[in-house]
Amino acid sequence: MTPRGAGPGRPARGAGVLVVRGGTAVLPDRLLPDAVVECRDGRITRVGRGGRVPRGARVVDAGGGFVAPGFVDLHVHGGGGADFMDATPEAVRAAIAAHTRHGTTTIFPTTTTGSPERIRAMLAACRAVRAAARPADGARIGGVHVYGPYFAAEKVGCHAVAGRRDPRPAEYAAWFRDDLVRVATCAAELPGAAAFYRAAARRGCLVTCGHSNASWEEMARAFAAGVRHVDHFWCAMSSVASLRARFGTPMRAGMEQFVLATPEMSTEVIADGEHLAPDLLAFAARMLGPRRLCLVTDSSRALDMPPGRYRFGAGDDATWFESDGRVGRAGGALASSVAGMDRMLRTMHAASDVGLAAVVRMASLTPAERAGIDGETGSLAVGKRADVVVLSPRLAVRGVIVAGVPWEGVDPSPTAG
Ligand SMILES: [Zn+2]
Ligand SMILES: [Zn+2]
Repeated sequence: MTPRGAGPGRPARGAGVLVVRGGTAVLPDRLLPDAVVECRDGRITRVGRGGRVPRGARVVDAGGGFVAPGFVDLHVHGGGGADFMDATPEAVRAAIAAHTRHGTTTIFPTTTTGSPERIRAMLAACRAVRAAARPADGARIGGVHVYGPYFAAEKVGCHAVAGRRDPRPAEYAAWFRDDLVRVATCAAELPGAAAFYRAAARRGCLVTCGHSNASWEEMARAFAAGVRHVDHFWCAMSSVASLRARFGTPMRAGMEQFVLATPEMSTEVIADGEHLAPDLLAFAARMLGPRRLCLVTDSSRALDMPPGRYRFGAGDDATWFESDGRVGRAGGALASSVAGMDRMLRTMHAASDVGLAAVVRMASLTPAERAGIDGETGSLAVGKRADVVVLSPRLAVRGVIVAGVPWEGVDPSPTAG
């Protein structure tokens, strides 16, 4: 990055100012061509067209591409060889760095099934990294997503069944002692689920049902207890067919119908092109719209790693899966994605006809709203943290800015003078 117009001696008026220009800004509801995004002291101070660049400001040239808000990932297990369940600050930072390269600026490290000790250690590692956040780390931790261990046994998917259990107040009361946990998952049919949901809702969490074979009635009770979201739509969730196997006939509605029919409910898709075909992605975008649908990576540690065998989770609690470089597989089943948010964006954009502003919203403002951090980040708006991703015309990541600081892991200004 070359500071332009800043000579030696007195600091120029533009010192501490970063300007991104030369691209089309992606706003929540429209595109703004020839945009200037001005950041000062880590905050966005202006979003508009044209205008003067303050003398001494650092300039990032978007090179005719797009200037989008940094991505917000609500559901992500690891990357760059590290799983958040490795539960060390080094592993947490390695996974965060890998996702920052793909445009994520706010991340919600996500637990899987595992022993109480392992989950406590994961929370402690994330708490330590969040408290000592440095620009060099890349994406900021928005909070932890407590995901496993409260899964239904018949819907654990690739996660270790030995590490799943029913909700225990003595365990989760400790998770909710401070504000680290912001997203909380539990299968609705488990004994004690309603009490868990109420405890998470009291803490202001996004309360979600996942890895579940819940019926409509169970979802309605979960909704009354605070559930407003369902994890990875169509993956490890109930369907008319799976409920028939549980209850017999007459066939009945489950999570899919409940989400589609309930305007207060949101959900998320793993839009890597491997979990869901383009028709399902387009269906989700059309039926739910950009305010109720999030893109998540649900990525494992195999993101940005060569094809091979990897552990999902850590230590004795882990399961093994195979990455072919496109997706993770365990036996005949899928075992999480191995892609970053930029690929989710490109895949959804190609699959659906809702347009780029809507697709970017699904990866930024909508997850920020659902997690309750949209006052702080999630869109290019004055006063928010200056979290910006510069994309090429084909939506490849060219640069990432976190809290006004260009991240060193990506060259943020390939064409700046
Ligand atoms: Zn899952
Ligand atoms: Zn997951």
